[in-house]
Amino acid sequence: MSRTSKRYKSVPSTSNGSALPRCDQARMPRVRVLFICLCCVLIFALILGLYISSDANRSNGPIPAADLTKDKFNHKPSKCSPAQVRKFASQIDRKRLWETHLRPILRERIPGTAGSKAVRQHIYSQLGSLSAGWMLEEDSFVSPTPKGSVTFTNVLAVLDPSAQRRLLLACHYDSKIFPPDPRYPGKVFLGASDSAVPCAMILELVTALDVQLSALKQQRAAVTLQLVFFDGEEAFEDWTETDSLYGSRHLSELMARTPHPPGSTHTTLLHAVDLFVLLDLLGGPDPLIVNHFDNTARWFDRLIAAEKSLHKQGLLSSHPSGQSYFRKDIYFGPVQDDHIPFLHRGVPILHLIPTPFPPFWHKMDDSEEKMHPPTVENLMKILAIFLAEYLGL
Ligand SMILES: [Zn+2]
Repeated sequence: MSRTSKRYKSVPSTSNGSALPRCDQARMPRVRVLFICLCCVLIFALILGLYISSDANRSNGPIPAADLTKDKFNHKPSKCSPAQVRKFASQIDRKRLWETHLRPILRERIPGTAGSKAVRQHIYSQLGSLSAGWMLEEDSFVSPTPKGSVTFTNVLAVLDPSAQRRLLLACHYDSKIFPPDPRYPGKVFLGASDSAVPCAMILELVTALDVQLSALKQQRAAVTLQLVFFDGEEAFEDWTETDSLYGSRHLSELMARTPHPPGSTHTTLLHAVDLFVLLDLLGGPDPLIVNHFDNTARWFDRLIAAEKSLHKQGLLSSHPSGQSYFRKDIYFGPVQDDHIPFLHRGVPILHLIPTPFPPFWHKMDDSEEKMHPPTVENLMKILAIFLAEYLGL
């Protein structure tokens, strides 16, 4: 501005000594000022454009905690059209869920034993066969238990580890220790609903949605999917704060001290969890799943809407009314489960567990015979719509 002012003052006089006509004298500086203003606008637009483009690629830079929190609370799901609802529902394969995913999990899976290791291998092998390219990790640790030191191993899978935020889908794969029961000679506790079926449901969900999840990863979406198969949910003896939730207590602590993105001084992997969706005790007929937390009620509403939408199109079997499973108008009290260590650290929770618990809970007959495949398939379809809408598949 100072240079322009100086030039303005040095405008030469005409040879006859009179000044240029006043209108010309005034117009020249105005043209320059307008030109300069135009340049300023162009420079501002350029800077704004660069800012917006760098903002879109924020995944490479540090993410302030406030932004992650704001983004997760403001997250807008997409809305599946009736045609999309039909398409996603058709991708669920009950036979594959039962034969490929569930059967190998229906065995004793006590932490630190060969059965536990075999089930982990099964999970790795199923996820490893998918085209989406899951990053698989183990969170292995030793903890004292009433039965001595035991090695526990959580199985983790992340679709795109560099994504800013994660929708977390979890279940536990360990089975409870039961002494031999003379009424069931030669039988062991299989924990079909607790939680072999939920594990198989998660495997079937990501298998059914493999094509869409691959595309999500290619798009480098801000929200990705993380799977957690917890070890050591069950107590070795009676449920106490120290004898239960071995895997989830360990992982929540690990995530709380793991910077995300790597190198961040503000945010951790826990901040990156948009929503922690926990599946447990599913597999039997007529589950009644209620809303446990006000801060995630809007996500529970999406489940209710998905159930109604599928029912309306006649896509659910053995399903008497549009709202058979998910209910917000009743409550049977809180439930201790793998979400507790995450809840206490401020992670938003959606707890998908039937209350009251099924009649075979922690009984030897929590077995395949008590499971109800049409109900499991219905729940899978509802969850497929939920994931598709949350992640915008
Ligand atoms: Zn249990």
